[in-house]
Amino acid sequence: MQVRVRFAPSPTGYLHIGGARTALYNWLWARKNNGVFVLRIEDTDLERSTEEAVQQILDGLTWLGLEWDEGPYFQTANAAKHLETANRLLETGHAYRCFCTKEELDVQREAAEAARIAYTYDGRCRRLPAEEIHRKMEAGVPYVIRFATPRDPTAAVAFDDLVYGRVEKRCLDIEDFVIVRSDGRPLYILCNAVDDEQDRITHVIRGADGIANTPKQILIYQALGIKPPVFAHMPLTLDSKRTKLSKRRHGEVVTLAYYRERGFLPWALCNFMALLGWSSPDGREFFTREELIEAFDLSRINRANSVFNYVPGDEKNWTDPKALHFNATYIRTMPMDELLPYVKAELMDAGLWRDSFEGERREWFSRTVDLIRARYHTLKEFSTRGRCYFSDDFTFDDEAVKKNLLKHPSLRELLPELADRLAKLAVFDHESTEDAFRSFAEEKGIKAGIVINGTRTAVSGTSVGPGLFEMLEVLGQDRVVERLRKAPALIPAN
Ligand code: GLU
Repeated sequence: MQVRVRFAPSPTGYLHIGGARTALYNWLWARKNNGVFVLRIEDTDLERSTEEAVQQILDGLTWLGLEWDEGPYFQTANAAKHLETANRLLETGHAYRCFCTKEELDVQREAAEAARIAYTYDGRCRRLPAEEIHRKMEAGVPYVIRFATPRDPTAAVAFDDLVYGRVEKRCLDIEDFVIVRSDGRPLYILCNAVDDEQDRITHVIRGADGIANTPKQILIYQALGIKPPVFAHMPLTLDSKRTKLSKRRHGEVVTLAYYRERGFLPWALCNFMALLGWSSPDGREFFTREELIEAFDLSRINRANSVFNYVPGDEKNWTDPKALHFNATYIRTMPMDELLPYVKAELMDAGLWRDSFEGERREWFSRTVDLIRARYHTLKEFSTRGRCYFSDDFTFDDEAVKKNLLKHPSLRELLPELADRLAKLAVFDHESTEDAFRSFAEEKGIKAGIVINGTRTAVSGTSVGPGLFEMLEVLGQDRVVERLRKAPALIPAN
């Protein structure tokens, strides 16, 4: 049987890391089995669903490269089938109309609370005589439709979860849950099960919070005479204090869109997310798409909750350091022809892109990116820390200026003189510049390090970066000379 899985988000907020991981695991399972990945937007909660959230889901999956094979289907489009199913359950006695008012239910709930027993609806409308039901309906008394959970004390629902193993629940512990609201709208628990059957889903791969719904959904399937899909529930992702991730608590860092904005490579993020709850038998961590599809297996999803190590307020580690490490490693090692389009997009965004980078300066562009990528954690850094390579309008880091320029006032005269020297070089590469520096420092009786560090700050604004001479080579003779000539402006005369 062909494997069919689905990602079924509710478009009621932003797409978060947990949701994206669910999508990823479904996608991996589909690809691994030459199956079908269905995207279903569960928009039955009309008050909370927004078009913007739908768009964010589509954009997010597209950005991650998790292409779906069918859909997006919209749950509301299947409303007729949901109601038809509810009616079938009514007809077969697996569901009943409940006319209890909110006030009546409140009284029942309060009585249970007073007696310190967990409240469940007592099923009184289940026993209403047919004439009474008829009369109430004629009179237009509002009602909900409840599922009639088997009341045999020995009855239980069980399923073999691919991650959590055998899960069993006594029917007595499942109340007669509502499947259609009094305004006639079917509830998620019903729609979700009906749609899984309609979409011929073979494996339901979803967050562990779905486990609570599964027995009820299995009861619905049993009542309809349908074989339920296989379930695989994934552990939740918690923060380092073991709290569930949420935008309210953790802010943007849990939203997928944020990773895109802050310069993540989509695959680096996928690779990181894959390990939030799954591990390879040999402990390997870096995978290409094809390798991950090959290695991934539902049976290796951990039961333990996974931890997203995010510490608020640490700007350097603005997300889990492991995620940053993955991104940096990909940036540093991926094939240049795959990286360059991302760098181009980043520079375009920042207004630093020049068409010549793809034309006559193509080779220069690639060399420059290759040189600077070694130290970057995100794509953003190509336009921030890397700005001095693509524009003359870059900023100077105060600390670097203090340490490398202001501390050595002689550089005020020396750097322009060095500039004149460099301007005369017939060949401007890292060897010739290095020779020029060494002999210049020796002649002037000053430590080479002082001239080197001063130059670094004068031409790039910082005190860190690639080797100075390689850096000078990619910056090029004209820019280096010009920036060194302007250095005195950074070192006020006493
Ligand atoms: N719409 C549900 C959610 O977003 C789907 C749960 C499921 O995958 O069955 O939580």
